[in-house]
Amino acid sequence: MGLDDRADRRSDEDETDQLTRLLGQAPPHGAAAADRRDQAIRAAVEQGVVGPDAPLAGLFDVAGIRAGAAALRAAFAEVAAPGTRVLHAFAVKATPLVPVLRLLHDAGIGAEVASPGELALARAAGIPPAHTVLDSPAKTPAELREALALGIAVNADNPQELARVDALVQSAPTRSPVGIRVNPQVGGGAIEALSTATATSKFGVPLRDEGAREWVVRAYLDRPWLTRLHTHSGSQGVPLELMTAGVAAAYALAEEINARAGRRQIDTLDIGGGLPVNFASDEQTPTFAQYARLLKREVPGLLDGRYGLVTEFGRSLLAKHGTLLARVEYVKSAGGRTVALTHAGVQVATRTVYAPESWPLRIAAYDAKGRPKSGPGTGQDVAGPACFAGDLLARDRELPPLEQGDHVAVLDTGAYYFAHHYSYNSLARPAIHGFAAGPREEGGGVRFSVVRAQQRVEEIVAESGGGARDALRGL
Ligand SMILES: *Cc1c(COP(=O)(O)O)cnc(C)c1O
Repeated sequence: MGLDDRADRRSDEDETDQLTRLLGQAPPHGAAAADRRDQAIRAAVEQGVVGPDAPLAGLFDVAGIRAGAAALRAAFAEVAAPGTRVLHAFAVKATPLVPVLRLLHDAGIGAEVASPGELALARAAGIPPAHTVLDSPAKTPAELREALALGIAVNADNPQELARVDALVQSAPTRSPVGIRVNPQVGGGAIEALSTATATSKFGVPLRDEGAREWVVRAYLDRPWLTRLHTHSGSQGVPLELMTAGVAAAYALAEEINARAGRRQIDTLDIGGGLPVNFASDEQTPTFAQYARLLKREVPGLLDGRYGLVTEFGRSLLAKHGTLLARVEYVKSAGGRTVALTHAGVQVATRTVYAPESWPLRIAAYDAKGRPKSGPGTGQDVAGPACFAGDLLARDRELPPLEQGDHVAVLDTGAYYFAHHYSYNSLARPAIHGFAAGPREEGGGVRFSVVRAQQRVEEIVAESGGGARDALRGL
């Protein structure tokens, strides 16, 4: 090795050290959260939250959700200039449950909504219009009219939508801040279906397409009431550096527009969500703080106090605080493979069942009393209840041997999983409960509260046209 090579290597190492110092060490792994989870599972079995008549339930760790919200706020408070207006709007899509939205609201978090249903959920949770943002690529005129009447922030997705907003803004005054969503086209991540900033993504105005940038600039110069700019370069599978590059592109565009306008027309940048989640262990990595520090390093002007900030995190706020708990109904052997037949399958883990390579989930084994099972593992399939062969949450997974009456916990499922029911086989939506440790003077036991009751069979019939039995006979 020549001297020069050595010097190169040293500077590489320096750079790595520097980055580590800047980003901070990964936090100590979530041992406390794992402990709370074990206690909650034991209590769920003891208290009958899961049992023969309720073989499947979603569980939310309330303390974990509160801590996550606090960590998000602290991360941006640390890097933003004092006095910077910051709205963290939770992407309702990730966990569309009113009590969860309410808990987040109490913790100072707003809502990002993308459909009339999500807006209704945010309103039911009591989230004020000033803390609500409407995105979505296909808003109807009625949706836009409602949002503008309520004063909810609106991000227009494309020129045709902006034309609709033009007409509405002219016909009635609105308090809504309005922006345009741009796609910085910085490239995709590991999961094609979740990459929003590819060249051909369906979201926003594609900034690098011919003429698009100039169109966006003119759109702002012609409309003094356009005061925001939005981008969301997520999601799971997109590296932090790529997300940061997307934000940097939006920031540069805002600077250009404001320079050409000769005033600070764009006063708020909405940087979207998309922070990936570690599904491989209890460690929370990357952290909000790491992302915020990277933004501060790469896009310092974003945080120097000249711009208000909106974020739209979903998965990273909720995934690790949700656990799906299922009873093992039967265990059988087929072709030399042990198969545990559980109640957690495609109806509550749709992505994992249909795209297992992209969405592997950790599974933990508990005995009939809800105690963690240990001991040497053997390869087993963990199957769901649906009637198709691919309904498996894990194939040949090393787990302590499962027996009838045991439980499996499917971890990190607080976002985009058990709250996202898929009605295959008319399987009932499971109950969802929040849990927290009770007061110490009462022994500190785990207390549960129902977020959503298990769907009743009569409800399944009613939602399946039960009230219209003869609808087709007279045609
Ligand atoms: C889905 C979505 C989010 C949230 O993405 P996560 O990966 O859950 O953080 C934020 N903003 C927009 C516009 C989205 O579509």
